[in-house]
Amino acid sequence: MSLHGKVALVTGSSRGIGRAIALRYAERGADLVINYARDAAAAAEVQAIASAAGGKAITVKADVSDVDQIDQLFTTAIETFGKVDIVVANAGIEKVDIPVTEITEEDFDLLFRINTKGPFFVMRAAARHIADGGRIINISSSSTARPHPGLGLYGTSKTAPKYLVRVLAQEIGHRKVTVNSLVPGPIAGAGIFTDVNDTDPYQKALLDSVPLGRLATPGDVADIAEFLAGDQSFFITGEEILMNGGSSN
Ligand code: NAP
Repeated sequence: MSLHGKVALVTGSSRGIGRAIALRYAERGADLVINYARDAAAAAEVQAIASAAGGKAITVKADVSDVDQIDQLFTTAIETFGKVDIVVANAGIEKVDIPVTEITEEDFDLLFRINTKGPFFVMRAAARHIADGGRIINISSSSTARPHPGLGLYGTSKTAPKYLVRVLAQEIGHRKVTVNSLVPGPIAGAGIFTDVNDTDPYQKALLDSVPLGRLATPGDVADIAEFLAGDQSFFITGEEILMNGGSSN
């Protein structure tokens, strides 16, 4: 698939899933807006790899829990490239092991600020600025489809943006913009699984529940994000794609 001539903005693309998606778009010819909150060096590394692939890439520090910073992120993108065609609301944080009785107001505010308010206002900015024919992709989590002990906070924080996706798809479909959620299961090598392997008891238990016999990788997520960014997915909107290898967990 070619994304030549397209501009893609991926929140939280300095590492993990966002990095894999951003680099895939760069490989396919897109110009890139790489966003991060803290780690400028990691973002610069993604920028160097993307530039080597031939496209233009910029890094923009912006905390997605702050609406002014989101708006500035989009302003910088438009000032640099003149437009945005693909927006991936990916930035998020994971906390998957707190029983509901132990969740504090501080925990709640932190996860909802980044995982709920963040994608909500990223998608609002996307709806305001994205070019006709554009693509908006919300990175959700299979925890929203498979409730489990310990997931009460994380799963609820990742659920609301999926609803917004369904509404937004209806509101801006007339501009030929599609809006979808990509809903991955546990991803080996990203987030809380960055520094562990299949010998880790939690990762092993998750792995054992996957009929396909392995956990997904950031590259697997990038495959679906590539499809959702391209022409072939045009008639899919307001939907969610669960990619968890058939796990019932
Ligand atoms: P990750 O490896 O921890 O990477 C998170 C990325 O988001 C980093 O680039 C980080 O940049 C950025 N970020 C964090 N807080 C931010 C903020 N407030 N504003 C802007 N950027 C911020 O995470 P990941 O596992 O790739 O997760 C990416 C998305 O996939 C999340 O929405 C997560 O819920 C979802 N997901 C993950 C998994 C999994 O198993 N890993 C499974 C399903 C869904 P800095 O380091 O600079 O802060």
